[in-house]
Amino acid sequence: MKDHQVLFRSTRGDRENVDASSAILRGLAPDGGLYVPDHLPRFTRTMRDFAQMSYQECAYEVMRMLLTDFSDRELKASVTAAYDEKFDTRAIAPVMCCGNAYFLELWHGATMAFKDMALSILPYLMTCAAHRKKEDKEIVILTATSGDTGKAALAGFADVPGTRIVVFYPKDGVSPTQERQMVTQAGDNVHVIGVDGNFDDAQNGVKALFTDEALIGRMSEAGYRFSSANSINIGRLVPQIVYYVYAYAKLLREGEIGNGYEVNICVPTGNFGNILAAYYAQWMGLPVRKFLCASNSNKVLFDFFQTGVYDRNRAFILTDSPSMDILISSNLERLIYHITGDDAEKDAALMKRLVREGRYEISAQMKEELQRFHGGYASEEACAQAIRDAYDEYGYLIDTHTAVGYAVHKQYVKETGDDTATIIASTASPYKFTRAVLNALDNKPMREGAGKEDDFALAERLSKKTGTQIPAPFEALRNAKVRHKDTCDVDGMKASLKRILSL
Ligand SMILES: *Cc1c(COP(=O)(O)O)cnc(C)c1O
Repeated sequence: MKDHQVLFRSTRGDRENVDASSAILRGLAPDGGLYVPDHLPRFTRTMRDFAQMSYQECAYEVMRMLLTDFSDRELKASVTAAYDEKFDTRAIAPVMCCGNAYFLELWHGATMAFKDMALSILPYLMTCAAHRKKEDKEIVILTATSGDTGKAALAGFADVPGTRIVVFYPKDGVSPTQERQMVTQAGDNVHVIGVDGNFDDAQNGVKALFTDEALIGRMSEAGYRFSSANSINIGRLVPQIVYYVYAYAKLLREGEIGNGYEVNICVPTGNFGNILAAYYAQWMGLPVRKFLCASNSNKVLFDFFQTGVYDRNRAFILTDSPSMDILISSNLERLIYHITGDDAEKDAALMKRLVREGRYEISAQMKEELQRFHGGYASEEACAQAIRDAYDEYGYLIDTHTAVGYAVHKQYVKETGDDTATIIASTASPYKFTRAVLNALDNKPMREGAGKEDDFALAERLSKKTGTQIPAPFEALRNAKVRHKDTCDVDGMKASLKRILSL
């Protein structure tokens, strides 16, 4: 037994507290709320201690604080299996210094985006949880994807014993590279199906399968149960706390900051998961002064921090940072719950209003609790400018999502004069968004020339122009064998799943 126990409860008021294993297996709480820790323990290691650790050691030390029902052996094995040669650098998450901005590169995993940081370990946490709960059924991860999450989940769950993963993607709704990344995925337990429809169709289809009682009954008889790798799973949030601690410790070790120095943390934000992990890290003892929440033109969160009103009633804008094109940031619900003083009733009322009216307003008292947050946003032009600036000033190449963070950081420094050392989450490799990055460097609109060169030609051009290397996972795609050719229409999703599971 551990000397402390962290339990998880729903933001919407289920009085039942569950351990981490149950929360991870369930994903969402039965009342539709998100699982939050009943308290956040303080780190038992100092930042100086963390400074001596490898990424894997750091991950173990941080995660054991929250996943208290996991044994040391289980956690260590999960960490070792997750953060191995799948990452192209032993640092796992290197930090690059550009003046007072420190880019924390979270894209050295198999799919070249930050989702790998959590999705590399989630499958192991989930199988440990299943084992602990004497769950003898095979876990079926069912996902609808608009691109990045699907591939990261496929790569994470591929050939993990006791699991199957089924990904539905909109046939005409993902980029050619994203589609190629998915249909070439190897593994005996992976299934990829193109749906004739858009992302919403695929998403709604998956939601319907998740709640289909008859189907769930049939699956149970055949020895299967559903689970979710979605970003609201607490098993994705906890591994994301690690890299903020790791980055801080690295800056301390290298003498960039002194012990106890309060850094700022800037995160290009969509679903609010990544920045929430930084906020949790602060509660656990990481010295942070400000959180800069960076949005693209879909600036719901900027408006929220400005006014206290969350309002999704607005046009959805397609930008060149597509993984941040979101109008409902699901993980914000966790922050809302905490700033009500952990009042599930108040949280549930606000979320109900969001569903009914598409907006809600928080009280003045709740707004007081948000003083550590600064909301900013970057237009497409500002984002292109930030890519040019980083390259011209430091010879450093960033992608379109990271550029949103860098642009917001620059504006913030200009507005406030606050030149605190700032960790900026770098969330994707520039090679995932070559056309936009090349156009930004050439001072052209980021969309220009779409369709003229394929993604491989663009990557070569970017590599030649900047002297940077094409990442291995991208190179490997060129000759990868297509393994998945199944397609279906929206009404055929259930039949496809039944065929896959031989039901
Ligand atoms: C998912 C994603 C984000 C947004 O992260 P959230 O945790 O949803 O806020 C930012 N950049 C990239 C490249 C992503 O894939």
